Amino acid sequence: MFSKILIANRGEIACRVIKTARRMGIKTTAVYSDADRGARHVAMADEAVHIGGSAARESYLVVDKILDAAKRAGAQAIHPGYGFLSENAGFAEACGQAGVVFIGPPPAAIRAMGSKSEAKKIMEKARVPLVPGYHGDDQSPELLAKEAQRIGFPVLIKASAGGGGKGMRVVEEAAKFGDALAGAKREAKASFADDHVLVEKYLTRPRHIEIQVFADSHGNCLYLFERDCSIQRRHQKVIEEAPAPNMDPARRKQMGEAAVAAAKAIGYVGAGTVEFIANQDGTFYFMEMNTRLQVEHPVTEMITGQDLVEWQLVVASGGKMPLTQDQLRIDGHAVEVRLYAEDPNRNFLPSTGTLVHLRLPTEGLHVRVDTGVREGDTVTPYYDPMIAKVIVHDRDRTSTMRRMAALMGETEVVGVTTNAGLLKALCSHPAFVGGEVDTGFIERHRDELFAKMGQADDRAFAIATLARVAESTPRSNDPWDQKNGFRLLEVGHDEVHWKDGEREVAVIVRRLRSGMLELGLPGGPVEASVQRGDGRLAIRLGNDTFTAAVVRRQVADGTDYTLFADGGSQRLRLVDPLDVTQYEAVAAGEGSVRSPLPGKIIDLKVKAGDTVSRGQPLLVLEAMKMEHTLAAPADGTVKSVRYGVGEQVPEGAELVEFE
Ligand code: ADP
Ligand code: ADP
Ligand code: MG
Repeated sequence: MFSKILIANRGEIACRVIKTARRMGIKTTAVYSDADRGARHVAMADEAVHIGGSAARESYLVVDKILDAAKRAGAQAIHPGYGFLSENAGFAEACGQAGVVFIGPPPAAIRAMGSKSEAKKIMEKARVPLVPGYHGDDQSPELLAKEAQRIGFPVLIKASAGGGGKGMRVVEEAAKFGDALAGAKREAKASFADDHVLVEKYLTRPRHIEIQVFADSHGNCLYLFERDCSIQRRHQKVIEEAPAPNMDPARRKQMGEAAVAAAKAIGYVGAGTVEFIANQDGTFYFMEMNTRLQVEHPVTEMITGQDLVEWQLVVASGGKMPLTQDQLRIDGHAVEVRLYAEDPNRNFLPSTGTLVHLRLPTEGLHVRVDTGVREGDTVTPYYDPMIAKVIVHDRDRTSTMRRMAALMGETEVVGVTTNAGLLKALCSHPAFVGGEVDTGFIERHRDELFAKMGQADDRAFAIATLARVAESTPRSNDPWDQKNGFRLLEVGHDEVHWKDGEREVAVIVRRLRSGMLELGLPGGPVEASVQRGDGRLAIRLGNDTFTAAVVRRQVADGTDYTLFADGGSQRLRLVDPLDVTQYEAVAAGEGSVRSPLPGKIIDLKVKAGDTVSRGQPLLVLEAMKMEHTLAAPADGTVKSVRYGVGEQVPEGAELVEFE
């Protein structure tokens, strides 16, 4: 076995490989780009080597830099993860020449499956069933159009070198074939520098079912059952599960054996996946083979109790696979969801930004979370916008989905838009839970799944208002609190204004003699109380007691409050920024502005000598995961600014002094 490996990847897969290596007593070297200096995989590895600029082509895709890092680190092998160089035969070859083991299949096997057209030719010979289609070398538009006619519409045009759903076009009728072909070729050329395409029958309501295969260098080859990855958007997986719903044992064996035949046909070694497209009646056809570990491998690990990265390391170091086909069993059901920083309502456009608040499900007996980010990290435009994979394992499919829907409802992300709401809707959709599974599911059920973020109700306005009250009511044991007399709502009443889209709502807050609050909500008055604790608010609203997380975030044109409660989330805009700053600046007291909370200065907007007017922002303080803008309490001149950007300040610290 190796004593040290280098991981030529980033994000959750790099972290995941490190985890297994560590358990096996293998040292790890990470590589990182500029954008990843502070990334989780860098912190997790035993050592890390900087390999270049943020763009992948300046770092994670540069063969020489990675080999050089491996040499300097004294790594005996390289794990490529997935994406990046994992299916690059040239890289696998270069590793061999440099005397480093490539943890993956032989270069020839990668090459054989690298082109979807070539792969289909090989599979044809191995008698693996193929989707009716054309995968020949003649690429003249006339011939391709004629082939499409022969296959029968609808057809699918695919880039032979394709991946990630790029260079694919569905064509419904002959008249549209020419334009679609030109489009697919343009996209293929741009993405893969190769515009070779194939044409195949476009199946209606198909399922994506894939088989995990494994082979060692001693001639053993087996399958670790199937995964159903039919829930997709833009031909890309969103939810994956194992075993596939409604799979009968005979069909499983048939598909498993077809996949093993495919692997054997190309002299495969290591972990691979043979992807099939299946009709609802169970008939299936070879689609492509991915010659690497797959994003969704955890569901297979959960139902088989195996660690596929461990298997990869054993096989790559020349060992035999730990088990034989007969020893493998399916235990229960597993599902994985891909939590993406993307906006389902804007055609799944990736969303970038800093994860100012991140609460992922807690790992446990039934729950696994593979992630490459932590709170405070940034989702950049450079790489895949995946935040985490959440995996649930339970005794049957229904329990698994119920558990996952609940976990998605408890997931809290502020700073980027995510698909958590969609994932929750999917895992609790009666049709999906009932076993309706095909690649058109999301589109067909769009209306129910994409229910727009509901209009805020009284409960939402109450939670947001209580969050504001809690902010201005420091815990009573605060010594500084005693010095400073200010408290919002000490006497009389106050009004908080919220905006929910275009709708504006004022909530009147009164402190009752009993110590309770009375909230004047659109639907009438309600008694309430709130307590701060451990990042969450303990709320009593009428007869209801519950907790909520509220994250306050300064945005360019105001202050947003994101509420997480009742398994959902809501965003409200606080109206009148002056109102925000007023209470925060009240700390001013004797001609100075003090820090209302312990925190860090992240922006200074004034310097000594500046004249400021009442309400003008002075600085931004980051505290309790939120940004607070402190403003001038009155017109005046700045005498001194006591702290610099990046400095940590204690609660009550004098930040800005006035003449
Ligand atoms: P899988 O096939 O393993 O389920 P994906 O198809 O989503 O997963 O791709 C695996 C990884 O490879 C992801 O990190 C994805 O961003 C990356 N990837 C997919 N297609 C491409 C591509 N054409 N070029 C580079 N990276 C890609
Ligand atoms: P990629 O390299 O992008 O993963 P695939 O060939 O694996 O490309 O196809 C991606 C997805 O496109 C499949 O999971 C499936 O949803 C859809 N697809 C591919 N081929 C067909 C087909 N012949 N009929 C219907 N859908 C298909
Ligand atoms: Mg695929």
